[in-house]
Amino acid sequence: IDPVSYVRSAIRSVPDWPKPGVTFRDITPVLQDPRSFRVLIDLFVYRYMRQRLDLVAGIDARGFILGSVLAYELNLGFVPIRKKGKLPYRTVAEEYSLEYGNAAVEMHTDAVRPGQRVLLIDDLIATGGTMMAASRLLQRLGANVIEAAAIIDLPYLGGSAVLRKTGLPIYTVCDFN
Ligand code: IMP
Repeated sequence: IDPVSYVRSAIRSVPDWPKPGVTFRDITPVLQDPRSFRVLIDLFVYRYMRQRLDLVAGIDARGFILGSVLAYELNLGFVPIRKKGKLPYRTVAEEYSLEYGNAAVEMHTDAVRPGQRVLLIDDLIATGGTMMAASRLLQRLGANVIEAAAIIDLPYLGGSAVLRKTGLPIYTVCDFN
């Protein structure tokens, strides 16, 4: 079995969660099994080991798990992109719209220096709103966002296509339809 199929087969699909009609793609079994966790991280490591990155930025909360392990393996620093109101120092925020209402992501103003080459990572791209806001935030701080990576893309929602149209390179390990 190839590495991508190995990871994909470890993802659990939970019907009707968080609400009826929605199928939640749950990555906790991927992390729980040491082999699929290693295969997953190694896919990212091989992709980015020659990219001369400066920093990995992970999105609250599953992006922290992936991003910190990946940063450690690549000998890079890690910075968190948090939901609003969690960071203690000076922050910069970027709002985005959800199905109902708005949300915002925040970073410390000194989390990246202008010109730094940053990899952005989260577990899943749905509408792309979260990744888009995170990428705008990094760019406002002067970062060069080299790529936005996730384990899962939901291509039928069109988020990854919209992100690519803005010029942001996107990498996802697998799709669910
Ligand atoms: P988007 O902003 O619509 O692209 O939604 C992506 C965000 O919602 C990510 O931070 C994901 O962690 C979360 N998310 C949405 N749907 C799922 C899912 O099925 N599984 C895991 N996370 C999800």
